[in-house]
Amino acid sequence: MQFSRFIFILIDGAPYNVFHELIENDELPNIKKYIINQGCLKKAVSVFPSTTGPAFIPFFMGLFPGTANVPGYRWLSKKDILRHKYGRPGLCSYQGADGLNFLVDLPDQPTLFNYFSPVSNIYNLLTKGCSPVDDRTRRTKPLAYAVAHFFHKVWQHVTAVASQELIKAVEAGDQFISCLFSAVDGHSHFSHIRSTAVIKSYKSIDQTIGKMCQSLYKSSDLDKTMILISSDHGMTNTGTHIDVARCLDRSGQRCLHYPLIWRRNVKSASMVSGNGMANLYFKIDATDWGERMPFEEIDRRGIIEFLLEIEGLGLVAGQSEDGSIIVQNRSGKGQISYVNGTISYKFDQVDPLRYNTFHQNLSSREALIETYDSKYPDGLVQLSQIFRSHRTGDLVLSAESGYDLRARYEYPEHRATHGGLIAEQMLIPLAVNFPIETEFIRSVDIFPTVLDQFGHKIEGFEIDGQIVK
Ligand SMILES: [Zn+2]
Repeated sequence: MQFSRFIFILIDGAPYNVFHELIENDELPNIKKYIINQGCLKKAVSVFPSTTGPAFIPFFMGLFPGTANVPGYRWLSKKDILRHKYGRPGLCSYQGADGLNFLVDLPDQPTLFNYFSPVSNIYNLLTKGCSPVDDRTRRTKPLAYAVAHFFHKVWQHVTAVASQELIKAVEAGDQFISCLFSAVDGHSHFSHIRSTAVIKSYKSIDQTIGKMCQSLYKSSDLDKTMILISSDHGMTNTGTHIDVARCLDRSGQRCLHYPLIWRRNVKSASMVSGNGMANLYFKIDATDWGERMPFEEIDRRGIIEFLLEIEGLGLVAGQSEDGSIIVQNRSGKGQISYVNGTISYKFDQVDPLRYNTFHQNLSSREALIETYDSKYPDGLVQLSQIFRSHRTGDLVLSAESGYDLRARYEYPEHRATHGGLIAEQMLIPLAVNFPIETEFIRSVDIFPTVLDQFGHKIEGFEIDGQIVK
């Protein structure tokens, strides 16, 4: 066995293309020297929704958000909305203090933290399996993040603290260190994905990695430490905000949405993630949310037609009466069937996913490879997995590049977006200091692949990821 220590660095909101450009231009010299030159830089695929929270689960647990039953940064549970669960009426947003509910909502399965000791966590919000004393920033994180959200200069301070804590954990000899750097995402939302503040944030992470590797070298641990750098999601610049909630109000589907979650007499709900994705829910009658409403019924009510008229809405997907997934845009309609673990796809008129090929009985891996270099990478599997969760909307929406789905109550205004199924938001960098041969890798494969490198086997529970070599 080659490695005895593992350092996992997540750069929140780093799109593959921006990261790749910075490496090519020698702007991240330490990451290039210590990580990529020793191993590789891969273009990996995140999950749908490509957003903080749900997109952390694959790395730490090997599960898709749909399997983990966490289908968004915000969601509604039709089953629980009338019952008060954990003191909230079946509604969820991981914003602010409610972020703590994220841990409660995760399935009862091991995380990376359960396989190593001692461990350290820095700013990462998926702390299941990490004892509070090992969560180095648990006390300072809520306030620091809240302030940084409104006053963007504070991200610099957050990065500095993360860097200090990372070096301390390395020097303490911890076997597993998980460290999240959030400034790239924070600055991108406020400016754009290549702004001066964003690039500066990448460079300060690179400097920290240089210091970290020198420290590992001094203690003769550099060769024994697996170092993995990735991101939870990519990002695109935003020019237009679509007010989905107001559109639903105007179409007669009075809409429940954050922060107006106590609105009365609603007929629908919009739960936006990241903000390029939304889960939409519809009541079956004036009082009852019922169960998941089939795509055909929503169509009969005229809602699909009305949604497709909204400019910038890339895809509308829902579940058919026969259990298959229907995906539609203005130019065509596709159908994804998942039978006996294989995926088939067909479409009418123009393929809304732009694959332009019918597929029959693909394995999950084949479906990944077939769709890798497309507008919607891994779209067939990603649209299937999200509907496994009963908390997923009757419809899920994915915005086009340049648009998001939340026009009000987002302060400061978001100028960059993630959450959607488009390539620029789904593709993430994966830099590791050991070689991986395949060009096709999902974030969900990292959990079993890392554990395999340390000689651990996945036993007694199921995951979505596969070991990649
Ligand atoms: Zn974000």
